[in-house]
Amino acid sequence: MGVKKGVNEIINSVKNLDNEFQDILEIARGCKFSNCSHTTEADCAIKKAICEGVLSEERFNYYYRVKHEAEYVSEQKNKTKAIDYMKQKKLFQKP
Ligand SMILES: [Zn+2]
Repeated sequence: MGVKKGVNEIINSVKNLDNEFQDILEIARGCKFSNCSHTTEADCAIKKAICEGVLSEERFNYYYRVKHEAEYVSEQKNKTKAIDYMKQKKLFQKP
């Protein structure tokens, strides 16, 4: 219970990211650079998809936030502190 449950939830969320955002990953394959951050790069398929209305900007922002924050937590030694930080940011909540 408590913190331990929170850690497991986050770990599972990270594992499920690729499944949940399959469509975004699919679009991202069209990016010019394989390490594209989809922010400032030229020939970014994600930015193009948002422009064309294929992908909603809200959904991409959600993906982007979750992915980066999940990476942040996985790098932290102190998971409890990291989870508090995530709670502050209201992560893993659908928009
Ligand atoms: Zn991109």
